[in-house]
Amino acid sequence: MAIEDDVTVVGGGIAGMTAALAAAREGVDVRLLSHKDSTLKSASGLVDVLGYLPESDGEGPLSDPFEAIPQLPDAHPYRTVGVEGVREALAVFDGVVGDRYRGDHTDRNALVPTHGGAVKPTARYPASAAAGLASDDRSALLVGFETVTDFDAPLAADHLESAGVPFAARGATISFPGDFRVDAKITRFADALDADERVAVQGDGYTTELPVREALAEAVKPHLRGAERVGFPALLGQHRPDEVRESLEAELGAAVFEVPMGPPSIPGMRLEGALTGACREAGVRFTTGNPVVDYEEGGRAGSEDIAAVRVERNGAAIPFHADQFVLATGGLVGKGIDSDREGVAEPIFDCHVPHSGDRYDWFADAAFGDHPFARFGVETDDDLRPLDRRGDVEFPNLRAAGAVLGGHDFAAEKSGAGVSLATGVAAGRSAAKEVSDS
Ligand SMILES: Cc1cc2nc3c(=O)[nH]c(=O)nc-3n(C[C@H](O)[C@H](O)[C@H](O)COP(=O)(O)OP(=O)(O)OC[C@H]3O[C@@H](n4cnc5c(N)ncnc54)[C@H](O)[C@@H]3O)c2cc1C
Repeated sequence: MAIEDDVTVVGGGIAGMTAALAAAREGVDVRLLSHKDSTLKSASGLVDVLGYLPESDGEGPLSDPFEAIPQLPDAHPYRTVGVEGVREALAVFDGVVGDRYRGDHTDRNALVPTHGGAVKPTARYPASAAAGLASDDRSALLVGFETVTDFDAPLAADHLESAGVPFAARGATISFPGDFRVDAKITRFADALDADERVAVQGDGYTTELPVREALAEAVKPHLRGAERVGFPALLGQHRPDEVRESLEAELGAAVFEVPMGPPSIPGMRLEGALTGACREAGVRFTTGNPVVDYEEGGRAGSEDIAAVRVERNGAAIPFHADQFVLATGGLVGKGIDSDREGVAEPIFDCHVPHSGDRYDWFADAAFGDHPFARFGVETDDDLRPLDRRGDVEFPNLRAAGAVLGGHDFAAEKSGAGVSLATGVAAGRSAAKEVSDS
């Protein structure tokens, strides 16, 4: 029997999941198709809306992202959804994450320390990072682990102090208590903290066993020296981060926070879990693990519509029919936009991706310059429908959301998750309304 849904979303990242959630909450049947892990497993778990204006040459950061949105270029996805669209999407996000995230009390960006010792402007941050804000003047001890080499705590503390934060920062590197493999993954440490596993601890000429949270606090205590808060790399539990933090705070007598990390990102995985749960609760069906490779033309409403997308499975191409489609396949990193020496393309629907024919124009001379490739992606009309090279809608029943959209440079602007959320919610709602109205 043919697979038939009202709305099919392609892509399982923050854009695809918010599109699917928003559509399902409008009361239509939604299926989400996704191939591999999304960027959530690599990204920090922070939800940036807008930290810097494009071409600001690093000047800033912006204190109020909403005030700055109207100053963005016309082609920017935020100009398509508008300030209200961004606010509505954040309200959806806040509802999904509840007290797992902070920042909804103000329009102002928070400044969160990063694992490199920089300070990052962001709109929403995990509750686990709240005690670490750079605007807080309490003295901080950063604690790194010998085997977690991405976080050099003494160096990060030095960088923070040189960046002029209003607090004293020190760093210490310790070994994670217990007999863990030298190459243990950070998820292994997180699991141990979740379960409060008992670990062997060396004393003065003896070995004893302690619950790992207590053992960790004991290892930190000699370095505390009056610090009012202690920051750890973000591995304080995958499933019970509040409980782990509370235990450490009680043992240490100091506030405890997580410093967001690079891949694999435990806060990103926690966020993925929250979004997946909300989608399932809203009735979204997930089909994962295989790529969408192309599409069939001629849907219900006319021959220019997409009738189905085709998923490659064991050498066969399985059609998934729907009334409306959302393309949320990510950007250059996730291969939602593909490039080779000849050009830049959107691989499923072959949507037009504006770019210069001369590939030397794709890059700026300076390594950290304003590279055109960072803004590559599909262009849309004001209903997020991709446009062809003449500026006409490619397919009446296709919308695009997230990093597959052009016109923004998420890394330079610090706008990644915000763009995905805002366009995901708008595309999902619009696709669902189209179904309801037909
Ligand atoms: C290292 C790193 C750190 C970051 N840090 C931050 C940060 O601190 N704050 C912030 O706001 N943003 C950050 N970002 C950016 C932000 O995470 C992304 O912009 C955002 O997550 C993109 O979401 P998306 O859903 O649009 O795309 P993606 O997360 O890339 O998801 C795309 C999905 O589409 C699927 N897909 C692709 N092609 C196909 C296909 N043919 N068939 C089926 N499925 C397909 C993929 O498997 C994936 O599930 C960071 C990004 C990176 C890479």
